[in-house]
Amino acid sequence: MALKDNYLESLRRQVAEVEPHDVAALCAAGAVLIDIRDHDELADGSPLSAQAINRGFLELKIETVAPSADTRILLLCANGTRSLLAADALLRLGYRDVRSIIGGFGRWKQQGLPFATIPQLDNTERKRYVRQLLMPEVGMQGQLRLKQSRVLLIGVGGLGSPAALYLAAAGVGTLCIVDDDLVELSNLHRQIIHCEEMVARPKVDSAAQRLRSLNSSAQVSALRQRIDEHNVDAIVSDYDLVVDGSDNFSTRYLVNDACVKWSRPLVHASVFRFDGQVSVFLPRSGCLKSPCYRCLFPQPPGTDLAPSCADVGVLGVLPGIMGTIQALETIKILLDIGDPLVGRLLCVDGLSGEFQMLDVEPDPHCMCCNQSDVALQPQTRLPKVQ
Ligand SMILES: [Zn+2]
Repeated sequence: MALKDNYLESLRRQVAEVEPHDVAALCAAGAVLIDIRDHDELADGSPLSAQAINRGFLELKIETVAPSADTRILLLCANGTRSLLAADALLRLGYRDVRSIIGGFGRWKQQGLPFATIPQLDNTERKRYVRQLLMPEVGMQGQLRLKQSRVLLIGVGGLGSPAALYLAAAGVGTLCIVDDDLVELSNLHRQIIHCEEMVARPKVDSAAQRLRSLNSSAQVSALRQRIDEHNVDAIVSDYDLVVDGSDNFSTRYLVNDACVKWSRPLVHASVFRFDGQVSVFLPRSGCLKSPCYRCLFPQPPGTDLAPSCADVGVLGVLPGIMGTIQALETIKILLDIGDPLVGRLLCVDGLSGEFQMLDVEPDPHCMCCNQSDVALQPQTRLPKVQ
């Protein structure tokens, strides 16, 4: 008998094995199911509840999904052999209850158990995102999550330019940009997605062209229109998350109200001369402590307190910083990692170089996030005259 067969035979006497049809009950009781097959094999599908950790990285990454040595771990490979070897490795590492699934994914399918086909990154994408894939907070699953994400950007000006560029570069699969302006020469000191050749062209065309040249696999939709009460619901509800790069209060309120209504995370930022602010609003997204934009600013300040960039100027770097933070917050939310700026307003003073964090509480009297959906319907509806 070959050495390998002898070894496997001895492992089968030491390692507990489990039938595929018993896995669901074990997972319901807290077990962690890990699919250790290679990326190419995963293209055939993987159990719905499985986490994919390639065999080569198993010992290195296991603690990200099983932080306790008492966690019950179920390992799946193609036919139940590699999972046996992997189980032995995890037992040596110190885990106390590791089981190999008999017959692997082949037997899983024979038993008619549910699985999903997992979209995969191709070789080019793996090379492109290798620095992100190296981080356990992103990894293959996170990168795929970014690829499947749909992000709406309101405005491709000073804030939207860096936000859109970094999101496309990071691998967010679908980006929609909404803007009805044309590129002007005076935009170029801060709206870095545009260039001289695009002056007088629609901003969305300029931005879409730049984003597609940066990442040809990104699906970029360009809506050359002003977002208003007639189109906001249809647009906002079609995306996972909204990045607000608008420069006026009426648009911010409109977008905020739609995000509250459709439970979409809203990543907000604004700039003024050398100052910037950024925050994240998640009302009705399972985050009870999240305010909305109206909680922060119930009323628009007068034009003397909030003049526009066109009136008072803005240093081009400031929207670059704030839009980049918006991209960071967006990626954190999409990947469900870190602590998004929920209930916090990050204020950047460009001149002093100081960053200040202010707490923002939900307003119990907020006209938007504390009322029923009925209150969010257009206020202009009048009773019909009989
Ligand atoms: Zn509110």
